[in-house]
Amino acid sequence: MRLSNKILIGLVLGVIAGLVLGAENVGFAKKWIAPIGTLFINLIKMIIVPLVLSSLVVGAASLGDIRKVGRIGGKTIVFYLMTTAVAVAIGIILSVVLNPGSGLSIPVNAAIKAKAAPSIMQVIIGVVPTNPFQAMLQGNMLQIIVFALFVGIGITMVGERAKPVADFFDGFAEVTYKIVGFIMELAPYGVFALILPVVAANGPKVLIPLAKVIFAVYLGCVLHVAITYGGILSVIGRVKLFDFLRGIFPAQMIAFSTCSSSGTLPVTMKCAQENLGVSKEVSSFVLPLGATINMDGTALYQGVCALFVAQVYGIDLSVGQMLMIVLTGTLASIGTAGVPGAGFIMLTMVLQSVGLPLEGSALIAGIDRVLDMARTTVNITGDAVASIFIQHTEDKYADQEKSKAVSA
Ligand code: ASP
Repeated sequence: MRLSNKILIGLVLGVIAGLVLGAENVGFAKKWIAPIGTLFINLIKMIIVPLVLSSLVVGAASLGDIRKVGRIGGKTIVFYLMTTAVAVAIGIILSVVLNPGSGLSIPVNAAIKAKAAPSIMQVIIGVVPTNPFQAMLQGNMLQIIVFALFVGIGITMVGERAKPVADFFDGFAEVTYKIVGFIMELAPYGVFALILPVVAANGPKVLIPLAKVIFAVYLGCVLHVAITYGGILSVIGRVKLFDFLRGIFPAQMIAFSTCSSSGTLPVTMKCAQENLGVSKEVSSFVLPLGATINMDGTALYQGVCALFVAQVYGIDLSVGQMLMIVLTGTLASIGTAGVPGAGFIMLTMVLQSVGLPLEGSALIAGIDRVLDMARTTVNITGDAVASIFIQHTEDKYADQEKSKAVSA
């Protein structure tokens, strides 16, 4: 049986078992089932830092020349920013149309205090690690990425003398991919154990009061995938949306159940290379970068939630304020780590930017996990679309260079 089928079965069985166990058996689920999920997550976490470091060093170094790094890097970042901004806008529009906050009066749980989010400037400054080893110890992905890019570019510029370093990272990356293969064999059990306690604790009932927000976020995610990604893919014309979704499905399952783009990265890379026709060269550059800075689902969620908070507190937002949400939502999603719940913390930064009450985010807290599942799935789907786009433009570029060489 294919691994993706096994993972799906694990997920479905986990949901059913969670519903059967119900809230009264949450203690049992937390004590005996949840640790298996934690073990699986730990295995994945174990490999993230080595994987991102080695694959990005190899990715940047294998681009061959510094102009290529600049070209691919530039395209990737512009693509990421634009799709993310579209995602926030979709979130805002849906919230305006569906008006999830209307007629809703939920007592704010004072116990859940919003954590302070870093300011935009802090996010920008924090990108450069003062100590790369500390960044690795703390698992600060953005800083690791910056360091890895420097190392990769350095290898390229040094040339021959840096070959042992390049070979080391190359071999090291292969070893991490192999380890990922082992870990993935355990995914069906991991997914089962992760989803079960969430369903048992929340049950179907608890979700009803905030069902509209959930509906808005999920609908937004579907629209973003169908319209934005579907549109981009049909313009590129390499893969049909349906085939694309089939190819990326295993990664989506992992994203949905782990709520972590970084954790899903190994699988996203595997799917892109094996099912979507993206080269190792492009995927090992575009995807680790995307797992850390490209979060369309998170941005969309921030759009929906900011408007929802405004509606609940009866605050009318101007168009200017909505544009501000698009801007900060985009930046916040870049600064969001690819780990569960990170987007929720960054939501406070968005609320703050337009003067919305931060306590509003407490309303979201209870359902955040359910929203996280959808947004993380969209996050990694967007990365995969970007990898196809970059592959396509690079292939075209190579063709042009070839025909130039022929005619010269
Ligand atoms: N969990 C999301 C991710 O890893 C980030 C977020 O919380 O929005 O992609």
